[in-house]
Amino acid sequence: MRRKLVVGNWKMHGDLTSNQLLLERIINGVRELNNADYVVCVPNPYLFQARELLKNTNIAWGGQNVDQHEEGAFTGAVAPHMLTDLGCTYVLLGHSERRSLFHETNLTASARFEAAIKAGLTPILCVGETLAEHNAGLTEVVVASQMDAVMATLNEQEFALAKQLNMVFAYEPLWAVGTGKAAASEHVQTIHKFIRDRIAKRNTQAAAQVRILYGGSLKAKNAKDLFAMPDVDGGLIGGASLLANEFVEICRAAN
Ligand code: PEP
Repeated sequence: MRRKLVVGNWKMHGDLTSNQLLLERIINGVRELNNADYVVCVPNPYLFQARELLKNTNIAWGGQNVDQHEEGAFTGAVAPHMLTDLGCTYVLLGHSERRSLFHETNLTASARFEAAIKAGLTPILCVGETLAEHNAGLTEVVVASQMDAVMATLNEQEFALAKQLNMVFAYEPLWAVGTGKAAASEHVQTIHKFIRDRIAKRNTQAAAQVRILYGGSLKAKNAKDLFAMPDVDGGLIGGASLLANEFVEICRAAN
């Protein structure tokens, strides 16, 4: 039985004062919810604050992206060891906003995935199709190409490391992210099963173990239905992760 995982993606929101309030409310809200795992991915400047507030709690923290290089002249970039230095255990990779607004590709996602696992970070690889691709019936083609671009570059040793770190996949259809229109639970289940089956082609044990999150307008009101699907192992939450009550209710639904 896979333990559910709820990940908040704060995107570019927050400040020292509002973060403290939000984190204190979440800490209090999930303290007794011991049957699932929780992570908040905060903007890089606030990782230090997250570490101070979350270090003795049941909530982990992570980055929203990472660079593939270890160090060097890469202005504005953050290396994997910088995230681990600040206690991060997770990192989002290939988020649709990184792909669409910052021109990141399957190639960068793949290089960053490798760099992240080598630093000991658990990668959360985001995959998902646009509305046009969805309407054209291309969801599985797109998801497969995004997954394969990363999986194919991992040699056996790297794949074993990713498995050991409990790599995570997040299915995030772009037409559902930030739109208020979540995908139907049955559609989500179909794609999650597709993702798991594709991992099974490489390693059945990894496929059984890997957690596949759904992201895209997941709120307290639809969390229970989505989490009831057999291949939905939790959620990646954007907007609703900025509202303590909503986020805590989603965490409760995962228990
Ligand atoms: C996201 O940004 O990963 C996301 C799922 O956003 P939202 O929950 O706001 O749709």
